[in-house]
Amino acid sequence: MSFPYEAPVSQSLFDRASVVTPGGVNSPVRAFRAVGGTPRFMVSGTGPYLTDADGREYVDLVCSWGPMILGHSHPEVIAAVQEAVARGTSFGTPGAGEVELAEEIVARVEPVEQVRLVSSGTEATMSAIRLARGFTGRAKVVKFAGCYHGHVDALLAAAGSGVATFGLPDTPGVTGAQAGDTIVLPYNDLEAVRAAFAAHEGEIACVITEASPGNMGVVPPLPGFNKGLKDLCSANGALYISDEVMTGFRVSKAGWYGIDGVRPDLMTFGKVMGGGFPAAAFGGRADVMAHLAPAGPVYQAGTLSGNPIATAAGVTQLRLLDDAAYEKVDAVSAELRALVGEALTKAGVAHRLQVAGNMFSVFFTDQDVRDYETAKTQESFRFTAFFHSMLEQGVYLPPSAFESWFVSTAHDAAAVERIAAALPAAAQAAAEATA
Ligand code: PLP
Repeated sequence: MSFPYEAPVSQSLFDRASVVTPGGVNSPVRAFRAVGGTPRFMVSGTGPYLTDADGREYVDLVCSWGPMILGHSHPEVIAAVQEAVARGTSFGTPGAGEVELAEEIVARVEPVEQVRLVSSGTEATMSAIRLARGFTGRAKVVKFAGCYHGHVDALLAAAGSGVATFGLPDTPGVTGAQAGDTIVLPYNDLEAVRAAFAAHEGEIACVITEASPGNMGVVPPLPGFNKGLKDLCSANGALYISDEVMTGFRVSKAGWYGIDGVRPDLMTFGKVMGGGFPAAAFGGRADVMAHLAPAGPVYQAGTLSGNPIATAAGVTQLRLLDDAAYEKVDAVSAELRALVGEALTKAGVAHRLQVAGNMFSVFFTDQDVRDYETAKTQESFRFTAFFHSMLEQGVYLPPSAFESWFVSTAHDAAAVERIAAALPAAAQAAAEATA
């Protein structure tokens, strides 16, 4: 397809970026390769809006891939950051902000008795896996096809979104030794997990799963799936790790745990808890966390872990996320889902809207999507047409059919109205698209 609308400043930045940065971006999905066209270089964000380098304003349905749940440039978060910056940017010592953020997480998520702060979701899952192996003295890790846990070597097998988008089954650079202890199973298939425990008795350190997956599009766990995982782990001496980097503090005050109540041994967090800064965490059972250095033998560290600016932003954002805030985000999400569904149905486009709390995504298929295999059967070319029509009309969607859409408390009636106005043409474009 051709892209009639221009973005000359973004194009020139992308040309410069492509000279000095591989593929012109610092994280692959930003490059628009799945949908084509010129990635938009953003210069500012306010509330539900982003403004690009060409001066075009978009309603943002990516929200920095989840973190910006209060919208962009929330005045209280900005003020907290400005105050923190004025006191200095990094000390390499313990600080009060780290204690406050840890206390806030422990207070919200009951299974988290102790928590360690890190700087990215990838670090959180990598460290949780190391801890699970150190604690159990076992090597093998079970993960699910289509679940993404960051770019941890051992977990980059059938890893959803970025990898799904590019159709890479695996990545060069991960050795057989690094991935050899990873067992990849189909999502939502408890029988497969049972069989893996039987085949590898006494060898499985942990099962890691997205609490409710958003990295193959939104594919919630079937009723009883997470509970079944937890029970199988308990029965076999393995740890159950719930990756809440995406869902944590987004879908409820206590994340997905607040919705399904299944108690993990370890949990991982990121995105929302950093308020738009690099802060992430892993935590859980105190007896397991006690194995971490310096309390125990499993080494884990970080120069910028618990950075004072990141913790100031994170604490402020979490404190603003009260029941009313979640009600607001849930309501906006429900309103948008209804609008999207209505527009696609009117245009005669087969689709499935899948929901996990206030996260949702559209699959261009007439089948319910319950795992990575069914996710891949969707007609992604329809998403490409839909995406570009929305972009042209000033709505910024995730540039891939395999991603969750994210909304915020700042998505007000005016923002929703702009999206509603754009949907009929986008749905028509999806209907007319050809492979
Ligand atoms: N785990 C999940 C469920 C994620 O969605 C992501 C990122 O999207 C990560 C881990 C990795 O987090 P980060 O990108 O901060 O390294």
